Amino acid sequence: MASTISFFDQVNLNFDKAARFTKHSEGLLQQIKICNSVYHMTFPIKKDDGTIETIHAWRAEHSHHKLPTKGGIRYSTLVNEDEVMALAALMTYKCAIVDVPFGGAKGGVQIDRKGYSLSELERITRRYTYELMKKNFIGPGIDVPAPDFGTGEQEMAWIMDTYMTMTPEKLDVAACVTGKPIAQEGVHGRKEATGKGIYFGLREACRSVEDMQILGLQPGLTGKSIVVQGFGNVGYHATKFLQEAGAVIVGVGEHNGVIHNPKGLDVEKVAAHHSETGSVLSFPGATTHPNPTHVLELECDILIPAALENQITPENAGRIQAKIIAEVANGPTTFEANEILRRRGVMIIPDAYLNAGGVTVSYFEWLRNLSHVRFGRVGKRFEESTHISMLKAVEKIAGQEFSQEAMKQLGHGPDEVDLVNSGLEDTMIVAYNQIRDTQKRHGEDVDLRTASFINAIDKIAISYMELGIFP
Ligand code: NAD
Repeated sequence: MASTISFFDQVNLNFDKAARFTKHSEGLLQQIKICNSVYHMTFPIKKDDGTIETIHAWRAEHSHHKLPTKGGIRYSTLVNEDEVMALAALMTYKCAIVDVPFGGAKGGVQIDRKGYSLSELERITRRYTYELMKKNFIGPGIDVPAPDFGTGEQEMAWIMDTYMTMTPEKLDVAACVTGKPIAQEGVHGRKEATGKGIYFGLREACRSVEDMQILGLQPGLTGKSIVVQGFGNVGYHATKFLQEAGAVIVGVGEHNGVIHNPKGLDVEKVAAHHSETGSVLSFPGATTHPNPTHVLELECDILIPAALENQITPENAGRIQAKIIAEVANGPTTFEANEILRRRGVMIIPDAYLNAGGVTVSYFEWLRNLSHVRFGRVGKRFEESTHISMLKAVEKIAGQEFSQEAMKQLGHGPDEVDLVNSGLEDTMIVAYNQIRDTQKRHGEDVDLRTASFINAIDKIAISYMELGIFP
């Protein structure tokens, strides 16, 4: 049963809970919490059969305390104003948690992309971009969209092309949107960034001997059983990196059912089966369940909800067997369900922290677009020759030569993807430890979600105070 509390109100309940542990004035807290601008647009599109359909779409800019605002665009029939505002608010807190200097935003188009041809999707995306431009809701220094549920590189390329066509005189047009294909000014590592960030975040959480002992688990990712709900861009990449680190993926849930094998499912083979047959179901060696929500109740150490919000509710929270819930989707656990799980001792690694890898690397892409140069382009060869000179000097002193393989590995100068992943890893480690420190400081009343909100509120409050708006 879905919660009777709206999604935006749920985000605000989490905010209010955390705000009680801060010392900021009511006026400042209200300013941080409120959604600054919401634009609901409707526009017609001509379908391939000549009929006209009216499309409803939104863009919410939750917080202008830093500009540009930043957040994905979602294509789903479930998109509505409340959802867009809630997701925009989560973006504000997320950016603050990982020290990305943006306000939060989110967009949504109320369509099921499976019901449209590629040319119809292109017309919808380009028209949505015009509508954003008309109201000044897009631009490198204003509001910068990115992919989310139901959108990807293709839509981002159409957005950039539309924006560029309408503003050819602007130098920084490519920075109007992130998550673009590499050949269209995207950054290496963006597509897999959210999944990789989840891996870095979970690795950090599972590293703590003390925290794992409380859960009755061994430290580290090796051997941990994992179940994922949603095998799209983020669900696939997160499980791929976790499997490479030694975790065992025992269940995969999609919109039409679940596959389960306690001995483990090979992520690459499941992905190949998905793209060949259009579904994860009937994967060889796995049991298939027709009920999609069954996935949440499978036995495992770590449950990864990576589809949509409001999946873990008071109705099913008591039946969840996982010891850790790694929130990859935005808002998968309702406020009430969170309380039930907290009392049951389940560790929840919150969405606003754990899925921040996407916006972190979007930030790098935006910086790359503004500087008009690929990361590593200027220094890579120089660093490589410095490394080689040092290795040659070591060879001379040691009187022994490195193997060709070792020379190649140690002498290597960083490629763009190495630098992006290094920045992402650092971001996820630093933010996790900031959250964990806040949690420790406050004791039992504060879980990781509340701690992450406390950190976000404090950081945004400092921004407002430094602007001189609030004392
Ligand atoms: P996606 O569209 O690539 O994948 C979503 C997957 O979920 C699809 O395979 C879809 O079939 C499946 N799905 C839909 N309904 C389902 C259901 N009821 N049960 C199980 N599976 C279902 O989207 P994505 O980019 O992977 O995003 C997934 C979630 O992660 C969203 O909540 C999004 O807001 C969040 N997120 C995405 C990013 C990003 O960089 N893409 C960043 C942060 C957060």
